[in-house]
Amino acid sequence: MRKYEDSYQHKGLRKKLINHLREKGISDEQVLRAMEVIPRHYFLDSAFDKIAYEDRAFPISEGQTISQPYTVAYQTQLLQVKPNEKILEIGTGSIYQATVLAQMGAKVFTIERQKNLFEKTKQFVLKNQYPTIKFFYGDGYEGLPTYAPFDKVIITAAAPFIPPKLVQQLKPGGKMVIPVDEGAHQRMLRITKNDDDSITEEAFENFSFVPMLTGKNG
Ligand code: SAH
Repeated sequence: MRKYEDSYQHKGLRKKLINHLREKGISDEQVLRAMEVIPRHYFLDSAFDKIAYEDRAFPISEGQTISQPYTVAYQTQLLQVKPNEKILEIGTGSIYQATVLAQMGAKVFTIERQKNLFEKTKQFVLKNQYPTIKFFYGDGYEGLPTYAPFDKVIITAAAPFIPPKLVQQLKPGGKMVIPVDEGAHQRMLRITKNDDDSITEEAFENFSFVPMLTGKNG
């Protein structure tokens, strides 16, 4: 059994990472605080222990990645998270992004299409600390109609287009943060659903994500 330990060294490296994110322009103190508290190295294979606080994406299993800390901070900041909001996440992966949202007080519903990654969530080491994260195995394009509507939706894979069912499952006034394909990169978009069901789109920086695929795997 792996031993999980959050040492002074880890905490020190995390502080440095937070300062780096601040320098790169992240200014939402709630986001920075959440990322300072969460031991990112718990979400990675122990082989990455020494480098877990570099501002880089790392491989998890099934050819997937844990997003770069800057990307996580950027998407979370755009989402304007408030305590008790219901947030739908597409692409559970390592559970790191879901944990950041839960640490900020959100109720998180997260979907993963890779069976093996979903199965791993049952052994999530911080499960007892974050009981407000609910895990689902399924196709993110479908969302979770049973639990809709959501205050916010976050997509952590490269979407070829804005999935209509996910817009439907947003509350009026709700927001979606989604990286949408634009050639080799994705443009980060923030969609706001208006009271008349129309949407307003804002465009931000470019990022590079693993693809949002159709259907379940496994
Ligand atoms: N939020 C994750 C990032 C993981 S990478 C983290 O913090 O680690 C993106 C994840 O999206 C991968 O695990 C991939 O399997 C998943 N994914 C891709 N297409 C999907 C879909 N249609 N539905 C649900 N998950 C999907």
